[in-house]
Amino acid sequence: MTTTEQQTPATPSHADGEKYVYYFGDGHAEGNAKMKNVLGGKGAGLAEMTNIGVPVPPGFTISTAVCTYFYAHDKTYPAELQSEVAKNLASVEESVGRKFGDRAKPLLVSVRSGARASMPGMMDTILNLGLNDETTQGLAQSSGDERFALDSYRRFIQMYSGVVLEIDREHFEHELFALRDRVGAQTDAAIPAESLRELVATYKKIVREKLGSEFPQDVNDQLWGAIGAVFNSWNNQRAITYRKLNNIPDDWGTAVNVQSMVFGNMGDDCATGVAFTRNPSTGERKFFGEFLPNAQGEDVVAGIRTPMPISELEKTMPAAYAALVDVYKKLEAHYRDMQDIEFTIQSSKLYLLQTRTGKRTGFAAVKIACDMVDEGLITHREAVERVEAGQITQLLAPVFDAQEKSKALQGGRVLGRGLPAGPGAATGMIAFNAENAVRMAKDGPVILVRIETSPEDIAGMHSAAGILTTRGGLTSHAAVVARGMGRPCVVGAGSLRVDYGKGELRSEGHEPLEEGDWLSIDGSTGEVMGGKLATRESEVVQVLLEGTMKAEDSEVFRNFDRLLKWADEIRTLGIRTNGDTPNDARVARLFGAHGIGLCRTEHMFFAEERILKVREMILARNEAGRRKALDELLPFQQSDFEGIFRELAGMPVTIRLLDPPLHEFLPHTEAQISTVARDMNWGFVELRQKVNQLHETNPMLGHRGCRLGITYPEIYEMQVRAIFQAACVVRNEGVDVHPEVMIPLVGTTKELQITADMVRRVAGDVLKERRVKIDYLVGTMIEIPRAALIADKLGDIAQFFSFGTNDLTQMTFGYSRDDAGTFLPDYVNLKILGRDPFESIDQEGVGQLVRIGTERGRSVNANLKVGVCGEHGGDPDSIRFFRSCGLNYVSCSPYRVPVARLAAAQAELEQKAYEG
Ligand code: ADP
Ligand code: MG
Ligand code: MG
Repeated sequence: MTTTEQQTPATPSHADGEKYVYYFGDGHAEGNAKMKNVLGGKGAGLAEMTNIGVPVPPGFTISTAVCTYFYAHDKTYPAELQSEVAKNLASVEESVGRKFGDRAKPLLVSVRSGARASMPGMMDTILNLGLNDETTQGLAQSSGDERFALDSYRRFIQMYSGVVLEIDREHFEHELFALRDRVGAQTDAAIPAESLRELVATYKKIVREKLGSEFPQDVNDQLWGAIGAVFNSWNNQRAITYRKLNNIPDDWGTAVNVQSMVFGNMGDDCATGVAFTRNPSTGERKFFGEFLPNAQGEDVVAGIRTPMPISELEKTMPAAYAALVDVYKKLEAHYRDMQDIEFTIQSSKLYLLQTRTGKRTGFAAVKIACDMVDEGLITHREAVERVEAGQITQLLAPVFDAQEKSKALQGGRVLGRGLPAGPGAATGMIAFNAENAVRMAKDGPVILVRIETSPEDIAGMHSAAGILTTRGGLTSHAAVVARGMGRPCVVGAGSLRVDYGKGELRSEGHEPLEEGDWLSIDGSTGEVMGGKLATRESEVVQVLLEGTMKAEDSEVFRNFDRLLKWADEIRTLGIRTNGDTPNDARVARLFGAHGIGLCRTEHMFFAEERILKVREMILARNEAGRRKALDELLPFQQSDFEGIFRELAGMPVTIRLLDPPLHEFLPHTEAQISTVARDMNWGFVELRQKVNQLHETNPMLGHRGCRLGITYPEIYEMQVRAIFQAACVVRNEGVDVHPEVMIPLVGTTKELQITADMVRRVAGDVLKERRVKIDYLVGTMIEIPRAALIADKLGDIAQFFSFGTNDLTQMTFGYSRDDAGTFLPDYVNLKILGRDPFESIDQEGVGQLVRIGTERGRSVNANLKVGVCGEHGGDPDSIRFFRSCGLNYVSCSPYRVPVARLAAAQAELEQKAYEG
């Protein structure tokens, strides 16, 4: 999401005489859509909309350079800022015909944050700024509506107190709801003026008590207080967490937008709302949104009131609705992408307050991209660029089993229904707050259940398998964030009651559920069901792997398939899979992998009859005994390889010779040892002694990989024989085979020389015996830093390299993969590391070894094939890096293959753009 934006310089510089403040209004703006770095996303959108003639209330944007300055200079402002703000404020006053702080016709403004990348709800907006006891009267008189003026004032006090004075919003909400109860008002809009006057007094009293001084009456103090609060909020905990989860750099900074107010709370011909130009959950091409009549923006955005669907607006305010339709179509055509817009209607006139590229689920992203290609709006290439590679995994995620679900529906297990806010099925244990969700998620899937969510809950939402709220609409915080994260989510399930105090989720006619109880939610349809519910495969999996659904019946599949085929036309990086069984090979092939990049032979040893033979081999008292056991293992290995070769007809298959230390195959506990001793006819004491003998203090750095092959050559000889006999059998069936034998854990030239010679000798023997001709390669894994450094020696002997980036990361950092979990999260939090290096390749260090190894290897062998087979092969950022190193292919687990195909195409486009 942030990658395209990262190409521009990280910190906009502010040369002498350059502007800090940019005006927009009356059809002309000083900025535009391309200036996100300077104006932030919101400011750039406001400027662009102004320029293309969309109605936007006039205002100005204080640039992100000021935020950078603010943090670099002890939270102070550049000297010129004050006068630039004053000048721009004067322009706004002139445009609107009102004056800031004026008693008779006061100008009111909103102060809004806006970073480059949208950070929903992270920064707090203040509306109606410029109201005090006097200007409120002026507003009442000039509008002829006292109720409206008081409503605006009480909102302003509430927001300003929360954001700038840091008084808990709850105090105010509590008084508001108490008042509504007292006067019997169903909505905020139904509270009469005299009650609002009383409420304003109560609010001011709260401020006096909590703050020890009066609510600020000077409008300039208000303005600068708000501007400072926006800059300060860049570094509040929620913002930091969001940036971390989304890889947004901390030094980008936010802009501040000061904008004249328009009022959605001035009567029944007023409203405020949010909309998407297409459905952000499914991608359906249909205007989609929500609004509240006679209300102000934050009511909808915060999700604290459940709004009405946009279709109602067409009935109640047809003219404003028609204007909105015109504007949304104009914006979508202009940006050529789905937009997320915020609007306000004041006295039947429409104003746009925001537009941005809408966040969407993986489902929606794929559908919108394909539809827009069909509509002639975008090219194949743009479609490929637009779907975040990682998001495509959502299309592979399970859904509820249809029969199970209808049983649950009929069996009275439905506790309630809400709005389907994020597609997918989720079953998990209830957690009533974010903290518990994070903790409980360590033991199993969790459903985070809240009345509503707020930015403080981000970490909990991230660790939850699904999210349920009882209040709020499809554009509420919970919905927006869940869609961004790809979490199944149901919002606004109003018939359910969450009682945080008792720790209960209640619904009529059902026993209350407690924290830790199982709950299932369907984010595609909105049902909330008690207990666990079985899931079934996604449509893509049903069509592609199981054959239980036809392609023509699944639009999801067809779009998935089209998009990935476009990606294949673009990419040059090959995609292979890491798979050890014919079934892995089949799955990966169907997902579009071309060959196997890593077939681990040891996994084949664990099946019941085999492990016995393996143990006999390891425990054999001499070479003859070892050879006998190996002879018995050979047919097993051979038949596994035959299966894989058949499955991947014509494609390359990289088979790694035995890698783990032998000790891993032996029994460990006394009980296991005694069983094995009996099975093998050994004495218990004798066996235990042998096991102890093989024990290593640090097995990962011990007797493993090619070290085993050198000290026990008969093991590798058997494996090579099995590979080539299998290849001959399958070749004789008329199937093309391309074995690539890979030698693990090489650190010296001699190790590779000895082992490669052996492989070529045995392979030659088998092919001669069987009189079959097969093209094969012998290569090595590069996973020890030393191997990367001497790659110009290894490149002479090997025909291919495959970077084993898991071990390479482990050995370059000196972090044990199995133990690093105890400190790596802290390292990421403390910013010692940007990301977990086992998840995304460390480009600065480990990446250098990949680059050096590739260059040096190719310097002696121009035809050297180079690939990657660590976990990183399925990570989009790593793939981008590997493409830039000039690798031939990446190999990843079968279910990551679609992600890798898409990411490889995106990497290609970036590389081309970079090379010009
Ligand atoms: P967020 O980034 O949380 O969406 P915004 O700055 O967009 O915050 O403000 C939230 C809402 O406040 C907007 O959607 C809009 O409805 C309302 N709002 C902001 N500025 C104004 C304004 N000048 N006039 C009327 N409403 C406004
Ligand atoms: Mg907004
Ligand atoms: Mg390894």
